[in-house]
Amino acid sequence: MSRYIATRAIRGANAIVAEAEALLQKALAEKGPDAPVAFTNTAYYLPVIYGMMAYPVTKIGDLVPVIEKAKSLLHPPPDENWWVPYLGETLDCGMATLLAEEAIEGIRFAYGEQPERYPGFRMTGSASFTSPEFETEEGGGGYLNGPIDDIQLRSWGIQLVDGRMPGFAALLGAARTNQAAVALVRELQRRNILVFLMGNVNGRSIIDQLHEEGVEMGYDTYIVPFGRDTIATIYPLGFATRSALTFGGLKPGQWREILLYNKYRVFAFAIALGEVDDLKYATAAGAICYGFPVIADTVIPQILPTGVTRYEHVISMPWEEIDAPTDEEKAARLVQKAIEVRGVKVKITEVPIPVPYGSAFEGEVVRKADMRVEFGGRASRAFEYLRMVPMEQVEDGKIEVIGPGFEDVPVGGAMDLGIVVEVAGRKMQEDFEPVLERQIHYFINGASGIQHIGQRDIAWIRISKTAAEKGFNLRHFGDILYARFHADFGAIVDKVQVKIITDPALHAEWLAKAREAYDRRNRRLADLVDEAVDTFYSCVLCQSFAPTHCCVISPQRLGLCGAYNWLDCKASYEINPTGPNQPIAKGQCLDSVKGYFTGVNEYVRVASQGKVDTVAMYSIMENPMTACGCFECIVMVIPEANGVMVVSREDPSMTPAGMTFSTLAGMAGGGLQTPGVMGVGKYYLTSPKFLSADGGFRRVVWMSSFLKQTMAEELKAVCEREGDPDLLDKIADETICTDVEGLLAYLEEKGHPALTMPPLF
Ligand code: SF4
Ligand code: ZN
Repeated sequence: MSRYIATRAIRGANAIVAEAEALLQKALAEKGPDAPVAFTNTAYYLPVIYGMMAYPVTKIGDLVPVIEKAKSLLHPPPDENWWVPYLGETLDCGMATLLAEEAIEGIRFAYGEQPERYPGFRMTGSASFTSPEFETEEGGGGYLNGPIDDIQLRSWGIQLVDGRMPGFAALLGAARTNQAAVALVRELQRRNILVFLMGNVNGRSIIDQLHEEGVEMGYDTYIVPFGRDTIATIYPLGFATRSALTFGGLKPGQWREILLYNKYRVFAFAIALGEVDDLKYATAAGAICYGFPVIADTVIPQILPTGVTRYEHVISMPWEEIDAPTDEEKAARLVQKAIEVRGVKVKITEVPIPVPYGSAFEGEVVRKADMRVEFGGRASRAFEYLRMVPMEQVEDGKIEVIGPGFEDVPVGGAMDLGIVVEVAGRKMQEDFEPVLERQIHYFINGASGIQHIGQRDIAWIRISKTAAEKGFNLRHFGDILYARFHADFGAIVDKVQVKIITDPALHAEWLAKAREAYDRRNRRLADLVDEAVDTFYSCVLCQSFAPTHCCVISPQRLGLCGAYNWLDCKASYEINPTGPNQPIAKGQCLDSVKGYFTGVNEYVRVASQGKVDTVAMYSIMENPMTACGCFECIVMVIPEANGVMVVSREDPSMTPAGMTFSTLAGMAGGGLQTPGVMGVGKYYLTSPKFLSADGGFRRVVWMSSFLKQTMAEELKAVCEREGDPDLLDKIADETICTDVEGLLAYLEEKGHPALTMPPLF
């Protein structure tokens, strides 16, 4: 390998470890060894140190052995006249660098210097920034991200495994120009690659560049700004380490396995923008240990394959020499190269519209002030309806706009809209209509500058001024839907035509037809009970990281991630008969109360590689279903209260079990059966089969207020169904109590039914 890179990386490592040691001495003197050290919103302590050394750092004094370990990994810079391959020394120094960098960030947290202050900046959709401690500026924010929350980690996990998101790119430094920075990020977003930002060149960071160009950064847009120095690179590497622990079922200290997991499962790479200094070389050496290659946009020596990463380790692709006329095209080439070097498979559907398109734009918000026009919401009605029609009634690719466009609507105004999608296909079934219709939300949201909320006749769509200026018009909704339905559902849909309706008379006529269909589907869903079918479905998508977990999905119990119900699985099986959703013949019913079926047991035995041989569909107490890491909620028995609590992923607070969601998640996941603990999808709470063997919804004694609020109507209906219309008020939440004593007092006071139900044990 290159002596030049080895020299610089080793020099950088020696310098940063010395810096960390000096900082630690200062902190020990000023704050004392017992001063707390913690990253926010994670149960993994300082995650790289925790993963590597199995050593939980909670206070300043804990960092002493960490720095000792880092020093033990250092090597002197290569001799001028004595050639050796240097690779091992360089990689050791890379690991030493990561330990030192994480120790430094930990100390900065202890001093209140992390996350980094960044006045005038507001992240979109970040949990850290909704917590009051960071709400310093008007409108909140004023800080960069710092470490990624465990909650966000898990919710991205599912997108990483099901392939919606291929991986992440760490952009370090500053691009040549602001335009180049924007072009690079857009190119990555187009491919749904998560973008992590950090570092600077002479004090200027890509974060500044994007901020100046008004690019929205935050969890919602898949662009996360960690910090404006190189040391912040430790945050994405902490994310990678936690992925291996959360999804890979690995234990702290299994350092080799954690690195290999990342090499083979986490498709990440770094792009070094601008001058590469010693510290960047040293940090890159750490990233290479994870199997993450580095692509530089400057002239630097390259490191060709040696096996640590899949292909090349370091590639130089100087920006000025990329043979393309515009920044956009240069960015595309650079990103393409990075993807090749990492070996990521990325599928892009070309959608012929005048704005960028990709699922990275799904979470984008169009604010009222930036809005050209809206459909639905307060001032107008928008609906969407997908139906199956006979083959001969569909002209594939026909897109009609029936009625006026929005040209005459004043800026910021509203108009009625109907989107009717008609599909035909030999394998299409009426049951798939709602499954496909629900995709309209994701498909339309993928367009940059378009926001889609809701579904059916409460759809609400906004077009931003920017998108309208670029020429986005009503017809483009049709173009998007046509392209995506063919690309994603080509196996069941042969022909697609779209009507975009604004004409008032036709709008009313189709709205009535749509409502009839919604009603019909609701009745069908209500009739669709577990007893009414002889087939359940499996989902083993998550086996790529939880190899023994299998969701058993029945009409009345959806997958624990909330993303797949029985109809979805049925459609998915039709689309891909060898895919992750397989039919499970129920077989003989051994116990209709607890939900034991011979077919389910047999299936699960094989799917769990013999780890689980019996599953009760309706009980938490006996052979409960296993979980991976994606559950929306955790249900856990509170023995003192003779009931269960339900904690949602969105709830960071303490619970009566003495643990937060993050800590509980460690007990619920991993593909093991733990009686008394279960990960579930939140809509399972509303099912008559929810814990039906153990007393059902009336067992719920505590529930995150987030669920109470966001599912108020559905839960109210459940309480009525259970014959106790005021039950929701009798259920405590984190605003009422976070310990067992408080809980019991509240239950007594309210007369909660669980207190008089048969004992759980
Ligand atoms: Fe994973 Fe279960 Fe969701 Fe499938 S249904 S993606 S296995 S959590
Ligand atoms: Zn999962």
